[in-house]
Amino acid sequence: MQHLPSRSIELDPALAQMAASAPDLAAGLGAYADQFEALARASGNPFAQSNAGADAEEEGGQARGEEQAGIPVGSPAPESNGHGHAATDGDVSAGSSTTGGQFGSFDATGQPRQAAPRGGRTKSTYQTGALAGLNPADRTNIRKERNRLAAQRSRDRKAAEFERLERLAEDKTQENSILQKELEMYKKRVKDLEEIVRALQAGAPVNNIHIVDEPVLPQLPTLDKNIVVVGASYVGLAVANELSKVVDGEYRVVVVEKNSHFGHLFAYPRFAISPSHEHAAFIPFSTSSHSMLPSPHVIMHASALSLLPSNRILLDRSISLPSSPPSTELAYEALVLATGTKLSPPGTMPGGSKAEGVEYLRGSQGAMREAKRVVIVGGGAVGIHALGQTPNSSLLSTLSPSSILPSGYIRVTPALLVSPSSASETAALGGRVFALGDVAESGAPKAARPALEQARIVAGNVVKVLQGQESESFETYTPTPAAIHLTLGFRESVIFRNPPQSASGEWDGEPVVLWKDDGREDMGIRGVWERRLPGFAKREEDYHL
Ligand SMILES: Cc1cc2nc3c(=O)[nH]c(=O)nc-3n(C[C@H](O)[C@H](O)[C@H](O)COP(=O)(O)OP(=O)(O)OC[C@H]3O[C@@H](n4cnc5c(N)ncnc54)[C@H](O)[C@@H]3O)c2cc1C
Repeated sequence: MQHLPSRSIELDPALAQMAASAPDLAAGLGAYADQFEALARASGNPFAQSNAGADAEEEGGQARGEEQAGIPVGSPAPESNGHGHAATDGDVSAGSSTTGGQFGSFDATGQPRQAAPRGGRTKSTYQTGALAGLNPADRTNIRKERNRLAAQRSRDRKAAEFERLERLAEDKTQENSILQKELEMYKKRVKDLEEIVRALQAGAPVNNIHIVDEPVLPQLPTLDKNIVVVGASYVGLAVANELSKVVDGEYRVVVVEKNSHFGHLFAYPRFAISPSHEHAAFIPFSTSSHSMLPSPHVIMHASALSLLPSNRILLDRSISLPSSPPSTELAYEALVLATGTKLSPPGTMPGGSKAEGVEYLRGSQGAMREAKRVVIVGGGAVGIHALGQTPNSSLLSTLSPSSILPSGYIRVTPALLVSPSSASETAALGGRVFALGDVAESGAPKAARPALEQARIVAGNVVKVLQGQESESFETYTPTPAAIHLTLGFRESVIFRNPPQSASGEWDGEPVVLWKDDGREDMGIRGVWERRLPGFAKREEDYHL
């Protein structure tokens, strides 16, 4: 088999047309090609060299694969307009005309060849390419490097595609779990509605039918490093929201709360007397469209029973987080206790669900309506402190009993780290357990407002724990004056603020007392919904969820 130069030959358009239509002229052209090669060989012209080895200069495996599969790989000669095709054994490629039109090409017998497709992948040959002037060793090295880079590019592309597909699969799994939960919820609602229809058909009185609570739908993140917050009242939610702003992407904030809803307890005393708003005192932590905590952080419905060794807590029920199987144990990188205190009703509602809270408040309203005399026992700001305020600190009793003070409150350092009195307990807590809000003996008054500053400080200190910083670098808390907003009768309220206090306990000035006429009986509860779940409650029935 003879090798012809991988170079285009300029043909006159008229001649090419004749060649295509006249077989004898085409055969003549084949002979012309033979002569050209013989002449080139005789003169030592490099275009007459063999094409062997040209494959090595392909742009990586993909081009080679195409050629092996019989797909022509284009090979424009330097003077062509890019529409030529690869020169193979015995081939003479026709070049472009000055008008850019395409000519046919002919084999050694003068038969016209089929034109190569436009826009094919290019393959340069070293006879005509940029490597022509190099010695063979350099050419080989450059080719090898080129092939290596091409193979690397191909591997990178595949790895990126693989990652993308993995992420997609994860998203789909997550979506699937959420949809499953929603499906379960809707199935339950359908069952409830069927129950109501049956009851109505059986002649049940209409006031026996109550609105069914929508279950809290947990969001399902896929992270596996948890910062656990126990308690989702004013302080627990404040610290969780602060944490969601400052921890980086690999951590998930998991809030564990034993109640089904956030309870706006400032309003409990009024709603225990004034009817029609009691359902609004309980706000769902999340619905299928809204959540009190931004994704991927999550509020789980469970009660924390105790701390376990190796940075875990024990729950009263199994919870499911996507990256781990359902479990009653929850591992943490840092733990924040915002478990508050237990008051007598109406300070703390009996039971843990909205239905039980609503039932209690309605019962209290009925009792007040029928009462001839009412006796208030207790002289605290809300008339309940004398009835007992029990700190929810018992979950520390397994791992660190010495950090529970005789009063039941948790001893903390100024940086709000739980502070046991024994070295072994300190080691067991690992310098990563914080307490704040009403349950902590921080020197602050037992009120929600001062604890918001504590929440900011604890979130910053948690980040320092995660970064492995020493506790000496932690920010410390200085108590601020107390303030309280109390209901007075059906429409009025009073805001009381203490002046600043010196370290020795001296007051610097007089307390501020602001009387307010709320102008309504609901204590602005709809505004609380809007702040907690922006944009969610639009219709009256939404406040019943
Ligand atoms: C009638 C009334 C009016 C008030 N008005 C004001 C006011 O105007 N301004 C003000 O600043 N303060 C006010 N306060 C005080 C304020 O309500 C408390 O200081 C505040 O609620 C403390 O918040 P906390 O998050 O620390 O604890 P809590 O509100 O007691 O919340 C603790 C949370 O932890 C949960 N929890 C407890 N143990 C566990 C467990 N083991 N597992 C899971 N979850 C658990 C509880 O269910 C609860 O949701 C008022 C209090 C009352 C009673």
